[in-house]
Amino acid sequence: MAVEWREMDVAHAERLARNESLFREVNERINEVAGSLSPDDLGADDHRYEFVCECSDPHCTERLVLSRGEYDQVRADGTRFVLAHGHVTAEIEHVVERTDDYVVIEKEGVAAEVATGLDPRTT
Ligand SMILES: [Zn+2]
Repeated sequence: MAVEWREMDVAHAERLARNESLFREVNERINEVAGSLSPDDLGADDHRYEFVCECSDPHCTERLVLSRGEYDQVRADGTRFVLAHGHVTAEIEHVVERTDDYVVIEKEGVAAEVATGLDPRTT
């Protein structure tokens, strides 16, 4: 019995992590395009772009405003994601950074493994 429940939890956490990894793929594309669009003449490294919220809700349409530098900082760690305030799923992640515009979370356990496995920057 206990084992069954545990397996369900793992599957659940895995699914949530996969949703977030999907949004991460979208943001990687945004970051790429932003990089090609902002040569030196646009200047400022602190120019901010609209990224999508990387929470586990597949229907989330929240937009977050970050500079490419801020975004890259999140992406440097394969278990970290950028989310809108109030979109944190406490069972699979915890907040490591909080700004006025967004929160940065770090995955735990199975969710962290899935996130690392799907990290577009390590494949
Ligand atoms: Zn969200």
